[in-house]
Amino acid sequence: MTKKKTRSAVAGATQFDVVVVGAGFAGLYALYRLRQLGLSVRLFEEGGGVGGTWYWNRYPGARCDTESLQYSYQFSEELQQEWDWSERYATQPEIERYLSHVADRFGLRSDIELDARVERVHYDEVTERWGVAISDGTEIDARFCVMATGCLSSPMTPKIDGLDSFTGPKYHTARWPDTTVDFAGLDVGVLGTGSSAMQVVTILAEEAKHLYVFQRTPNYAVPAWNGPLDPDYVRQFKAHYAENRRKAKQLVSGFLCYYNPKSALDVSQEERDREYEDRWRQGGIGYLGAFADITTNETANRTAADYVHRKIRSIVEDPEVAELLIPNSVIGCKRLCCHAGYYATFNGDHVTLVDAKTNPIERVVPEGVVIAGQTFRIDALVLATGFDAMTGALDKIDIRGKAGTRLKDKWANGPRAYLGVASAGFPNFFIVTGPGSPSVLTNMVPTIEQHVDFIADCIAHMRASNIRSVDPDVAAENAWVAYNDEVAHGTLRYDCASWYLGSNVPGKKPIFMPFVGGLPAYIRKCDEVVAAGYEGFNFTPAS
Ligand code: NAP
Repeated sequence: MTKKKTRSAVAGATQFDVVVVGAGFAGLYALYRLRQLGLSVRLFEEGGGVGGTWYWNRYPGARCDTESLQYSYQFSEELQQEWDWSERYATQPEIERYLSHVADRFGLRSDIELDARVERVHYDEVTERWGVAISDGTEIDARFCVMATGCLSSPMTPKIDGLDSFTGPKYHTARWPDTTVDFAGLDVGVLGTGSSAMQVVTILAEEAKHLYVFQRTPNYAVPAWNGPLDPDYVRQFKAHYAENRRKAKQLVSGFLCYYNPKSALDVSQEERDREYEDRWRQGGIGYLGAFADITTNETANRTAADYVHRKIRSIVEDPEVAELLIPNSVIGCKRLCCHAGYYATFNGDHVTLVDAKTNPIERVVPEGVVIAGQTFRIDALVLATGFDAMTGALDKIDIRGKAGTRLKDKWANGPRAYLGVASAGFPNFFIVTGPGSPSVLTNMVPTIEQHVDFIADCIAHMRASNIRSVDPDVAAENAWVAYNDEVAHGTLRYDCASWYLGSNVPGKKPIFMPFVGGLPAYIRKCDEVVAAGYEGFNFTPAS
């Protein structure tokens, strides 16, 4: 891990043009762009290093499932040419090294404070500035606030009776220690079967004496087929980097993938199977692009799901275990996972899949996990139990806008943000990849760059036009939220309990949070808003 403290370099100043919260992909690029405008910017990061989610999620097997040559910045041609990714899908350490390199290469560290959790962000209507309180007691203020707090950054720990009584070590995948954890010779329990669990399970199965995987809901996974990158392929890709990036932006997901325009129901069974098999062999979440109606038509979806069911049955030797691993839900409703041998892991005699649905976990006791009266004795417990997505990190901060309104209260019946970047009543306050933005449904990095460019351009416009503050119009915000919900209802996204809906967070109102219309539609909308003089945003001129 690259950990460089910068507190001494920035101590002293208390007034800035912009405060940025978070040093992941979004925060680092925001700092870079806003400094380019000649603004004074201070970035606060809770972690001890840069990387955001890629700093915290350092569990064994953590890896991105968007291809490394595309899951990377494009704002600097030099950067994208000079950085060498080693594998098709980058590991957490490699992404963390990359972001650390970006911080160094662009001289960002002098404006970053690490180990600095932002606790309070309050708008002062008299000074029209944001007062920001940091965990070490420092208070500063800024004219603009840019929340780059991430979509999947607030870990969820389930409320299970006795969880704290467990006497062995307990780890959450999203808060993994920065030391090597040795599981050799141990009986280990993993709670959860989402993307994080599938990655950690595959690695822990190689180390643990016995691995118990507690599964409440099975998930769909397609193979990643990760491997070293072919130097010729990289050379070719880099020779046409700008063109590749341009083409990717024209696709709903923001990454290069062939989206078959045909309906799954207009082709023969043979053609369907050929298409699914090709996608399976190719690997990656582009599987859902096999036919145009997989995410919108239940019958079409069933064909894509059935194919994965057959694959699971062909990999997993014990038919009972295979059936338990097979989801009966809509494929692509919950986030499709990528795996590197997850299903085959269950062929090992030392790996047990525990059904935590038929009989939910009763409680955790000092020596293990109790289900239906049976205690599964374990030495270590891994919680791969996900995140309070999209709103969780913002909710943890006491954010108050005009009239002291708390953002959390305003969002109690579901998050409301115009274009996912700003919320009415919170002037000069921007969110990168907020609810209502395509973010988690797309290749995050280009989406982040688009958002940050939009925000930076808006601030530059305000300066050029002598505008004091910007606040979204309530009607425009309501219309955007309603539009997104309408589009989401036209898909199969409401057909399961997912973190996209906040279903994993007790008391969270089920609203499909990310924008479902795809990256090109979102970019088009943003461009139209700008062309119409930032339609839907209210500007207050300087007096
Ligand atoms: P997740 O998909 O939300 O999975 C959490 C798991 O914990 C689920 O299986 C859930 O079961 C289980 N769980 C939660 N509380 C439980 C309880 N009380 N008892 C039993 N099981 C419980 O979280 P995640 O795996 O961390 O992934 C979140 C997202 O992060 C992914 O969807 C993806 O977008 C991103 N991610 C990406 C990668 C990658 O790029 N490869 C890797 C990791 C994460 P239920 O389903 O029954 O609630």
